[in-house]
Amino acid sequence: MVDFRRLEDVDVSGKRVLVRVDFNVPCDDLGHITDNTRLKSALPTINHLRSQGAITILMSHFGRPDGKRESGASLMKLVQPLSQLLETDIAFAPDCIGTGAQKAVAALQNGDVLLLENTRFYKGETQAADGLKGYDPAFAKELSDLGEIFVHDAFSVAHRAQASTSGVAAHLPAYAGLAMERELDHLSQALDVPRRPVMALVGGAKVSTKIDLLKNLVSKLDRLAIGGGMANTFLAALGYNVGASLCEHDLVGTALEIMENAKRVNCEILLPVDVVVAKEFRAGAPHRVCGLDEVADDEMILDAGPATVNKLADAIDASQTLIWNGPLGAFELVPFDTATVEAAKYAAKRVVQGKLIAVAGGGDTVAALKHAGAADDFTFISTAGGAFLEWMEGKALPGVEILKKPQ
Ligand code: AMP
Repeated sequence: MVDFRRLEDVDVSGKRVLVRVDFNVPCDDLGHITDNTRLKSALPTINHLRSQGAITILMSHFGRPDGKRESGASLMKLVQPLSQLLETDIAFAPDCIGTGAQKAVAALQNGDVLLLENTRFYKGETQAADGLKGYDPAFAKELSDLGEIFVHDAFSVAHRAQASTSGVAAHLPAYAGLAMERELDHLSQALDVPRRPVMALVGGAKVSTKIDLLKNLVSKLDRLAIGGGMANTFLAALGYNVGASLCEHDLVGTALEIMENAKRVNCEILLPVDVVVAKEFRAGAPHRVCGLDEVADDEMILDAGPATVNKLADAIDASQTLIWNGPLGAFELVPFDTATVEAAKYAAKRVVQGKLIAVAGGGDTVAALKHAGAADDFTFISTAGGAFLEWMEGKALPGVEILKKPQ
């Protein structure tokens, strides 16, 4: 279990609290927010700080302006929507350091909220002074001078050591915000101290992006189900003809190694037992369900078949915890979303019945579970992409390391 410093451990009243949020929200061409999930996930921390009479100073990156001021990447556009969600007016500083930021901070009263301009308007956020990867400690020091306490509430950037995260934590006492806390508690419960048996369902396009993740999971799980395009590499490793399917033939050795390791540590590997094949990669393409040894040379495996879904349902029944990352097929193309939708619905049903803890995360996974209508019933869905994957890989996340006790 991760033991970290929490917001409720510190008296924030009358203190200037510098909060790292992730307000890198999706916007349309006109700059209108298309999904305010990230704003909403910061509300519990901001409301807690306000209720305790703290001075809240929010900092975030937006887009990739790469050290240049770009009006399209200004955080100004978030002032009105955030004020509306908080039901109070918030202030905006036209800069995140320097006199612009200092003046805005000086004007705040206890309970006020200020949003600083995009931290990525400075190269020092993500680059060391010599242009190398990292951050500029002088820039981090300037940011940290604005506050007395640092609260990290952006798990989605926890896999990066940047000025506004690790850099600030080098100067200020650092605590996890409430959204960060929720992420860490759920993820840690699912993988570090899970209710067993624990299974993971890992899908998605390629094995190459998930080798470390699979290796780590095998050592921690009771069973690992592999689906999506990446399962094809495992099927090829077992000698099946996968026809024209997406398959990384050069990773057949890695797939075999993962399966051998799994056997050694008693982690059951579940692969598709039947598949849905088509000759074209498009929605509605003519398709058929077939056995693993019936795929023709000109056919592509685009989804898992019904017998596989049944097997997954049995595995879910036999598990108390499920960790899900990646779709079981080309879920954006109906009807090749079927296995993903069915398995997600089944897992959601088990959660609702109180029989399963189901945690999911990582890029397309959230979209796939939303598409299945299962997202709301999962125990927890991580808002993070890269950080969720690195956590599944068992890596130490810099943004979490800075929060660990003792200070
Ligand atoms: P990832 O980003 O690795 O999680 O992969 C997600 C993508 O994998 C989605 O866009 C899916 O359409 C794609 N995918 C899943 N299964 C297959 C498959 N059998 N063939 C081709 N693409 C697939």
